[in-house]
Amino acid sequence: MPLPSLTAKAAFERADYPVVVVGAGQAGLSISYLLKQQGIEHLVLEKRQVGFAWREQRWDTFCLVTPNWQCTLPGFPYDGTDPEGFMLKDEIVDYLARYCQAFAPPVVEGIGVERITQDADGRYSVYTAQGMVRAGQVVIATGGYQTPVLPAMAAAIPPEIEQVHSVDYKNPASLPPGEVMVVGTGQSGCQLAEDLHLAGRRVHLCVGEAPRVARRYRGQDVVAWLDQMGYYDLPVDKHPLGAGVREKTNHYVTGRDGGHDIDLRQFALEGMQLYGRLTDIRDGNAYFDERLAEYLDGADAVSESIKTGIDKFIGERGIDAPEEARYVPVWRPEQAVTEQAFAGITTVIWCIGFRSDYDWIQVPVFDAKGYPKHDRGVTPAAGLYFLGLPWQYSWGSGRFSGVARDAQFLLDAIVQHVRQPGDGGGITASSVSGRPGESMGTGVGKRTETGTAAADGGRLDGVPRNNARVSA
Ligand SMILES: Cc1cc2nc3c(=O)[nH]c(=O)nc-3n(C[C@H](O)[C@H](O)[C@H](O)COP(=O)(O)OP(=O)(O)OC[C@H]3O[C@@H](n4cnc5c(N)ncnc54)[C@H](O)[C@@H]3O)c2cc1C
Repeated sequence: MPLPSLTAKAAFERADYPVVVVGAGQAGLSISYLLKQQGIEHLVLEKRQVGFAWREQRWDTFCLVTPNWQCTLPGFPYDGTDPEGFMLKDEIVDYLARYCQAFAPPVVEGIGVERITQDADGRYSVYTAQGMVRAGQVVIATGGYQTPVLPAMAAAIPPEIEQVHSVDYKNPASLPPGEVMVVGTGQSGCQLAEDLHLAGRRVHLCVGEAPRVARRYRGQDVVAWLDQMGYYDLPVDKHPLGAGVREKTNHYVTGRDGGHDIDLRQFALEGMQLYGRLTDIRDGNAYFDERLAEYLDGADAVSESIKTGIDKFIGERGIDAPEEARYVPVWRPEQAVTEQAFAGITTVIWCIGFRSDYDWIQVPVFDAKGYPKHDRGVTPAAGLYFLGLPWQYSWGSGRFSGVARDAQFLLDAIVQHVRQPGDGGGITASSVSGRPGESMGTGVGKRTETGTAAADGGRLDGVPRNNARVSA
């Protein structure tokens, strides 16, 4: 379906915008929706296409891992017939396209922002190959998974072996015939290994420390239990790991075929070759550490500990939920395999995460590792914000479930900024409604709340954080 989209000519006819949003994935669209509702003029610049990551950077059988009911974009919660299900890739693309149809965001596709600077007057210059616009405020919504990581050891892989990153994998048939080594067991690695395994490919899987979670337990999806337990409202600063949780690999599980656990031990029983972490590649061989058993036990321990928490919750609340037997390992490695020749392996798929890339934002809001200093997306540079970062505020921040809450928070900050004496930000106070922190109702789902920087102490702590690398 054709998306409502501005032409570059129309967008650049105007030299100055109150707000520029960079990126038109779900995060950029969410803040655009709220700005539009509030009557705040803005421009959304998208390097490629609306929803590009879902369109082009997911494999053919991709589906959400999170249930559809968690898709609660502002003003556009999931409206299909299968709230407990998991949208397929094309359905996700369609969901975002229909969102655009519904509110016609002022987005220009095919225009990447190449540089952003803050000028002496506090406003921003946003440079693109098509021209420059100035902005009173800027929201960076370029996603949490930016530059695919390839390790230095990739260079030692024999040249006849094809190498792809998970963002470029499409389907088993797109790879050369032969065995496939999948490196990494975050969500992408496990799901790609399953995709190839189900297609009858022999898979060599390099396992790491990623945790896993059961799909269902005691009568419902574990996500539903965690939701009831308030986990998705837990702010990052109350998490036991604090900001460190941002560096943690996601738990593996799948929504495929209605959703099920991913049990690597079961895959091993069915012929998948499991190894520990890939440590080196030389002379046509791959080398692994000896900790496969430990990694498998660790993933199971996390999954079982989540179930223990659910049991406790059920017990405390007196909830009538069916009993369910705990997981019993179906396979254990007898001896760690620490070396494997590449003979027979024709493809290596790297599923080891992404690196952030913010060199183009020439505003001093980054820590030594290049991660933006922010509090709930509000940076120390007045009027510059981030949206959609993993664990920006809560578990759902970098996902469909929490982006609405974060966008609402930023909207309040944007409105607040406009109201500061001497800083019009290009918006007149009359064009926004309500008092600071009292934004309009947005039709956002029940899990969304409003807040203001002031209400939360307006903390801009600038604590150095390391999120240079994340796994999906
Ligand atoms: C493999 C994988 C599986 C996932 N599964 C789930 C799931 O099941 N459920 C869930 O809720 N979440 C999931 N996520 C997390 C999250 O929902 C997605 O990463 C989602 O794409 C994030 O949306 P976003 O808008 O923040 O970023 P993106 O979708 O990445 O959008 C950012 C946009 O910014 C554009 N852009 C980048 N740089 C520039 C620039 N300089 N100028 C202009 N435009 C630019 C890009 O082209 C892109 O369109 C998954 C993520 C991955 C990687």
